[in-house]
Amino acid sequence: MSTGAPRNIAVLGATGSIGGSTLDVVARHPERFRASVLTAHSNVASLAALCAQHRPDLAVIADPALEGELARRLAAAGVHCDVASGHGAITAAASGALCDTVVAAIVGAAGLDSTLAAARAGKRLLLANKESIVMAGPLLLEALAAGGGELIPVDSEHNAIFQCLPGGRSNLAASGVRRLILTASGGPFRGRSRAELAGVTPEQACKHPNWVMGRKISVDSATLMNKGLEVIEAHHLFGASPDTIEVLVHPQSLVHSLVEYVDGSVLAQLGNPDMRTAIAYALAWPARVDAGVAPLDLAACAPLAFEQPDLATFRCLALAFQALRAGGDAPAILNAANEVAVEAFLAGSLPFLGIANLVESVLAELPSRSVVDVQTLNERDRAAREAARRILRNAC
Ligand code: NAD
Ligand code: MG
Repeated sequence: MSTGAPRNIAVLGATGSIGGSTLDVVARHPERFRASVLTAHSNVASLAALCAQHRPDLAVIADPALEGELARRLAAAGVHCDVASGHGAITAAASGALCDTVVAAIVGAAGLDSTLAAARAGKRLLLANKESIVMAGPLLLEALAAGGGELIPVDSEHNAIFQCLPGGRSNLAASGVRRLILTASGGPFRGRSRAELAGVTPEQACKHPNWVMGRKISVDSATLMNKGLEVIEAHHLFGASPDTIEVLVHPQSLVHSLVEYVDGSVLAQLGNPDMRTAIAYALAWPARVDAGVAPLDLAACAPLAFEQPDLATFRCLALAFQALRAGGDAPAILNAANEVAVEAFLAGSLPFLGIANLVESVLAELPSRSVVDVQTLNERDRAAREAARRILRNAC
């Protein structure tokens, strides 16, 4: 049992996959947690239904044209909460007085401003939105230091590493860490050749063998760009150099990542592939609470398999390592180009193998610059998106 008032949780991206899992854990522990702010992009019906269930103090819809409809739906459902709209209102909510904890579960670079605002305001930041730390790692770390709050990773691999380190995000060298080993399921196309990948469809790419996730991260998992973004995320979160981060394919997704120490010990965190474990850990840390996740039956899952990733076929992972080594804003360029490429693939206008080609072309066109501030970074994000769209247009 917790003591005192429940923590007030802002769920940014409440209508998404991580948002839904978060609200499931929150609802299991009303004495500990309360969803005080819910936000969504444009799914107004879904946001209103979540408000009716969780009774927040504030609901925010990113699309300003939908604010009136949200207010009408809430009134019809007898829900009395403040209503706001627009990107700025989400950013304001992330740093405002209505929450002490922020779950950053917006997808893509659209989550950057609210993630930074929560960090600057010293909130407990539960980071699922990996794109924001990939884009702006040094700025996010600065904002965290200035705000004095904690960052607990929600991405399952980083949550696993956090659990296997002695002090969470501790100094790796001082803790005797030799390597961080990120596991990857390999996605739905593991073992396929490039020729076999040429004609795969968005539906096939979004059918992940182990996890149910939003469409963007599902495509990233199929290209292994997701693992590439996670390598960059691990570099920033744990201060690990690129040479100390390895990727190991583990198709069952039961070992969520591992930490190797200089004495030869390897610590791993295991569990069923259900994001509620990582979310519950991050919400309650340093305590542990029931997440509603079924116990792991290792005998039923044996044997566990591990293999090296195929970087020649899944080139996005190699490109992410390349961007990390280039440093500066290269990861932000990589991320922006990938967002445009994934959108085009999902829209049926770019073949699967074209995703890596497009990212590679944009990285070549915009050599890395140092990260100065958010404004410059956003300009570079825009330049990378424009370059990607132009290359796409010229290719058609
Ligand atoms: P999703 O597509 O299911 O949900 C995205 C949420 O963000 C929705 O609530 C949507 O309304 C909101 N959103 C989208 N665009 C927005 C915008 N422009 N402004 C404001 N809100 C916007 O995605 P998801 O799978 O829940 O993933 C969310 C984030 O968590 C991603 O960064 C993803 O990489 C990360 N993540 C997800 C998982 C998973 O299992 N789903 C695991 C690890 C990390
Ligand atoms: Mg992950």
